[in-house]
Amino acid sequence: MIIAIDGPSAAGKGTLAARLAQAYGLRRLDTGKLYRAVALTLLASGREPGAEEAAEAAAKVDLAGMDDAALRTPEIGRVASIVAAFPAVRAALIDAQRSFASAGRAVIDGRDIGTVIWPQAEVKLFVSASQEARAMRRWLEHQARGEAISPQQVADDLAIRDARDAARDTAPLRPAFDAHLLDTSALGIEEVVEIARRLVDAAIPSPRG
Ligand code: C5P
Repeated sequence: MIIAIDGPSAAGKGTLAARLAQAYGLRRLDTGKLYRAVALTLLASGREPGAEEAAEAAAKVDLAGMDDAALRTPEIGRVASIVAAFPAVRAALIDAQRSFASAGRAVIDGRDIGTVIWPQAEVKLFVSASQEARAMRRWLEHQARGEAISPQQVADDLAIRDARDAARDTAPLRPAFDAHLLDTSALGIEEVVEIARRLVDAAIPSPRG
């Protein structure tokens, strides 16, 4: 069973993916980390985030040993969304994502999992939320990590990144035709997990019947 979760930034994909992985005993791949790792590699080497440099970094990317906190900064998120629009970067990261999926029993979250990476996923969820709800959630995450960034700055960053993700030619952010749409604006995490579990259970009857 593969559960594909796509959607814009800060819609709640990551938390939902972690909860579903735990509930069903599945492996999890957060594909945003791959693009963030490309950005981190580029910035650490002092290179420009141009298409060629980014594709080279993507071909060598290895999440092992990457510091989670370093990957999650606003700057890395910004550069990740720039390099993610380069077709050569996306192409370089496809095999790693597909081989993770082909091993089975996984939750994979990102922007193009249900559309490009693994369209045959048994369950596809497209998780979204209003711009305000997403900006507030992301700002609270930054606050919790002690990062100084204003709510307005967070909202602006998200709007720019979402527009870039949706407008790119290669693997733009959009729901697969057969994805379940889940708007989490007015829902708490427990409600989101509950709804998602019902969808998963309906797609895959549990052994307990
Ligand atoms: O999800 P996260 O914020 O970690 O992703 C960082 C950036 O990587 C996104 O803004 C998006 O541009 C890109 N991304 C992508 N395709 C994915 C996952 C992430 O283009 N499957």
